[in-house]
Amino acid sequence: MKYLGLTLDGRWHFTAHFKGLSERLVRAADSFGWLLPNLGGPRTRCRRLYAGVLKSMALYGAPVWSDSLHRRENVALLRRPQRAIALRVARAYRTVGSAAACALAGTPPWELEASVLSAVYHWTAEQRARDLRPAPEERGAVRRHAHEDMVRDWERDLPHGFLTYRLVQVLTGHGCFGNYLHKIGREESPSCHECGAAVDTAQHTLAVCPGWEEQRRVLVGAVGQDLSLPSIVNAMLDDERAWKAMASFCETVMSQKEAAEREREDDPSAPPLRRRRRGRRRRAYDRSSLAPPGGQQVVGTGVPPPALHAPPPSRGNSAVSPAIPPIPPSQGGGAGPAS
Ligand SMILES: [Zn+2]
Repeated sequence: MKYLGLTLDGRWHFTAHFKGLSERLVRAADSFGWLLPNLGGPRTRCRRLYAGVLKSMALYGAPVWSDSLHRRENVALLRRPQRAIALRVARAYRTVGSAAACALAGTPPWELEASVLSAVYHWTAEQRARDLRPAPEERGAVRRHAHEDMVRDWERDLPHGFLTYRLVQVLTGHGCFGNYLHKIGREESPSCHECGAAVDTAQHTLAVCPGWEEQRRVLVGAVGQDLSLPSIVNAMLDDERAWKAMASFCETVMSQKEAAEREREDDPSAPPLRRRRRGRRRRAYDRSSLAPPGGQQVVGTGVPPPALHAPPPSRGNSAVSPAIPPIPPSQGGGAGPAS
């Protein structure tokens, strides 16, 4: 039986749904794939957008079917297309496994993302059943907790170690990098504060910036001369020493970049764009920045989208916080476009 885009079999199981979904996603991935050759082709941002379109297809109706993911065959049906898509995003070899491909592409496994959507959906439904109208901040907090649980589950999937907050920043490029801060409206230019290069990205920090030469020497000793992200991740997956060296590099470098960023935020002479925003000021800023051009404010925009993710407890919603590409607001029964 097919109802609102979900397929149920005679025993009210979703296996038929996952089979059909998996085939559809593989077909869609193949038809998009020729647009994204591994050599040349669009850059990572475009690749993530492409992955996001397919993720929104995959997670459609997730709160309804997420309980069915206790069956391994259903998880396998979801992972198959996700791996193909993650390899395309990360430009990795076909030999890279599912967990590694997801880490490379900076996307948690879909079955885990489905659990976040489900947790938020069921919490909201429960509140509505009690005739309560929770504030957007409360919903954001529920989503944050669910997301923290998800990251912990994701870590268990990975060999050798765990994804630290700062390791994720470098893997995803969403962190304290000039280019990212400029993109989210927190920096006037994407340049590097350490060396003055025109654009500061995760790759610049990792492989080029002269400000981190000493830390880079240690990293190269463990992972080799090739500091491209796919090569580093392959080294991390092969060798625990490489994993630890990369985690240590990210921890040292990113904590220093964040400290410098906080100093710039706290500078009283900094333009308003650069200053740290918290509490009521932060909410007022969000409301005003999301207000439509006519000046009328958008209702219920008190929580900025990046707060849907797990910032470290000590940093609140500072611009240095976002660790993982934001999970966008739910759409179509819980599905959402990717980061
Ligand atoms: Zn630099």
